[in-house]
Amino acid sequence: MTLSYDAVADKLASLAKRRGFVFPSSEIYGGAGATWDYGPLGVELKNNVKRAWWRAMVQLRDDIVGLDAAILMHPRVWEASGHVQNFIDPLVECGNCHRRFRLDDLRDGEELIDQWRGGKVDLSDVPCPVCGMRKLADPRRFNLMFKTFVGPVEEEASVAWLRPETAQGIFVNFENVQQSTRRKLPFGIAQVGKSFRNEITPGNLIFRSREFEQMEMQYFCRPEDAPLVFESWLGTRRDWYREYGIRDDLLRFREHAENERAHYAAKAIDIEFRFPFGWKEMEGIHNRTDYDLRRHSEYSGKDLRYFDEAANERFLPYVVETAVGADRAAYALLCAAYDEEPDKEGVRVVLRLHRDLAPYKVAVLPLSKNEKLTPLAREVAVMLRPHLLITYDETQAIGRRYRRQDEIGTPLCVTIDFDSLEDRQVTIRDRDSMAQVRVAIADLVPALRERLGV
Ligand SMILES: [Zn+2]
Repeated sequence: MTLSYDAVADKLASLAKRRGFVFPSSEIYGGAGATWDYGPLGVELKNNVKRAWWRAMVQLRDDIVGLDAAILMHPRVWEASGHVQNFIDPLVECGNCHRRFRLDDLRDGEELIDQWRGGKVDLSDVPCPVCGMRKLADPRRFNLMFKTFVGPVEEEASVAWLRPETAQGIFVNFENVQQSTRRKLPFGIAQVGKSFRNEITPGNLIFRSREFEQMEMQYFCRPEDAPLVFESWLGTRRDWYREYGIRDDLLRFREHAENERAHYAAKAIDIEFRFPFGWKEMEGIHNRTDYDLRRHSEYSGKDLRYFDEAANERFLPYVVETAVGADRAAYALLCAAYDEEPDKEGVRVVLRLHRDLAPYKVAVLPLSKNEKLTPLAREVAVMLRPHLLITYDETQAIGRRYRRQDEIGTPLCVTIDFDSLEDRQVTIRDRDSMAQVRVAIADLVPALRERLGV
């Protein structure tokens, strides 16, 4: 790559809007508080990311099954899970300009967080990041869950929360899934779904937003097996990113310090990705112990212990969790795929997305917009559509159209030229190598399938 990696965030932000990957939500009204809409290309990319994850986590394994739990749950779930009590960010308000900040966004924020966790934080000498005055009030506890009401009356008895994580839907269904599928330990439950967090300072496009999609898997095992299970998931998940095009120098593991771990975690390691704006968490792997099942047993009064027939004993399984944001993963995969290289027209922008993730698999392009070429090009498009997600483009010069497909990551282009009218052959062009090969239309579907691995 010839460009600086730091510049990729700006390039992608522009590309995302211009080509229809991501739009600000409610943009004509000025946006809606860091929420995002996925455009025609973005929805394909994100669906492909979710599909790739599901394939690896459910389809290819005999020890993990799927679930799709409701977003609205019984309010006691969030008391049991600890989120009502502990899912808190310290919020600081400036007495001069009245802007609000997360404590860790202030100068020496990490240190301030440590002090806050210790019970006492001194902000008397900390300047406001906006106006510079030293008038920051003591931090206030701010729960990140969105509160709403079920039914027509807004009263405490009808409070519901938009889930801040999908995991709890899995814990409360542990017994349903285990018994309906007759599973024995160890086994996992995987889920993809929306979660909501009322972030004080969202930002960096889809990196941190208030409404996001999670891909979570909870793996239930015997307590003594949890450390080994934890280690094996580290490698399994790193391999997944590798398979889908994230180089090793863009990934690292970071273990949470004891005072940094979530309230449920005995051990936590982030898989961090080197975003253009710094190393950031992409996925969390947590040993949640039996915390969640124990708490749900207590709060619901239902015994959630697992009965091990062979050992003739009853116990609460431990849980090792892998949790990744679909939006964040999609963003990381875009960053890793973005490339520019010099060419005779200036710069060729290429999204080197893995073929399984690319929004369109094939672009069908007549050499020029011509009344003789169009019917055959359309015939080829109609032939391909049942097999692959394709796009059809006949405006502008062919070179420009290749560049337009490179920029959105389309792995293959199929070009119909004047020879095609005579010999019923077309040209397949490869995005990465730009190599071209001539193929009979009759053989086109298998030829494309072979190159796409589908
Ligand atoms: Zn201020």
